[in-house]
Amino acid sequence: MNELIPTTLTSEVLKEKARSLGADLVGIADGALMDQFPPDPDNPRTPSHITEIDGARVIVLAKRISFATSRLPKWNDQHKFYGDELLISALEELALDLVFWMEDNGAPALLVPYHHVDPLKFTKGQDAQATHPLSAEHAAVEAGLGTLGLNHQLITPEYGPRVILGIVMTSADIEPDKKMADALCLGPECGRCLSACPADAVQHWDRDWVACDKYRSPFGFEFMSDYLTSVLKEPDQAAQIGMLRGMESSEIFQAMLRGSGIITGCRRCADVCPVGGDYEDLLKKWVDEIPEVTPEKLNRLKEMVAAATLPEAYEQQSRWIGNLDAKI
Ligand code: SF4
Ligand code: SF4
Repeated sequence: MNELIPTTLTSEVLKEKARSLGADLVGIADGALMDQFPPDPDNPRTPSHITEIDGARVIVLAKRISFATSRLPKWNDQHKFYGDELLISALEELALDLVFWMEDNGAPALLVPYHHVDPLKFTKGQDAQATHPLSAEHAAVEAGLGTLGLNHQLITPEYGPRVILGIVMTSADIEPDKKMADALCLGPECGRCLSACPADAVQHWDRDWVACDKYRSPFGFEFMSDYLTSVLKEPDQAAQIGMLRGMESSEIFQAMLRGSGIITGCRRCADVCPVGGDYEDLLKKWVDEIPEVTPEKLNRLKEMVAAATLPEAYEQQSRWIGNLDAKI
């Protein structure tokens, strides 16, 4: 159990420093509350699972993604993949600068790599591919930055879901923020994330993570392992060499150079979400029309709106989705 340690730092001073380093949003979650409420009790990943020394507070940093990349309609546009990858790098540097500034001020701090995936927890075809050591989205909700949406994407009042997150943990006794009570998501009455999803992975307050992973990490571990397995199984050596020199190998090579298409990928659900202070002026005109919408998707949304009760998936995540009373 992480115990708080005295500090001269205040939450205001810490947040000001994070902003001066380039963070667009910053919030502080109570690590003990995150220990108490793991998002997935069957696979609890909480601050105390990472450290029992420096996890009493979870500082969540966010940078907005570029508006121009959200205006690009294709889910697999390379400018999105590369832009997001550069943003992740910038956020990691920002978080590391914050770590050293905190430590220079007597508060040991631990950077938690948001995009690190535990390979031991990946079970092909049975589990979501990207199992992170700590859910940054849930930490962001606990830190008061926003709430989860219909497909469990984090939504913020400022930028909707269009943010990339970073995490720094510390046990310095700084004041945590409070969670928002009411959902920011407009629910299935909106459903734009479902309409736009190329994997059709958006469900009623849930997401098919296995289907989503093929798009949000198109050249990730699963793609690579499947491809290399198919090369090994090819009995004809000339064909095998051809495969190694083919398009898939090139895609894997390019993705591994930067992580683009591995730790970044589809975010159509974020691009089209109408929540956020940035939406009306900077996005609506360009993303209003959704080419991926189908009659089947619209019917499913109608059924969700008409449902007499909320699904179990909502009940399991209601702490982070927030109160829907005003919307359902
Ligand atoms: S990231 Fe892409 S595939 Fe996954 S839910 Fe969003 S739109 Fe669908
Ligand atoms: S697009 Fe609409 S339904 Fe989907 S997360 Fe955003 S507000 Fe909620």
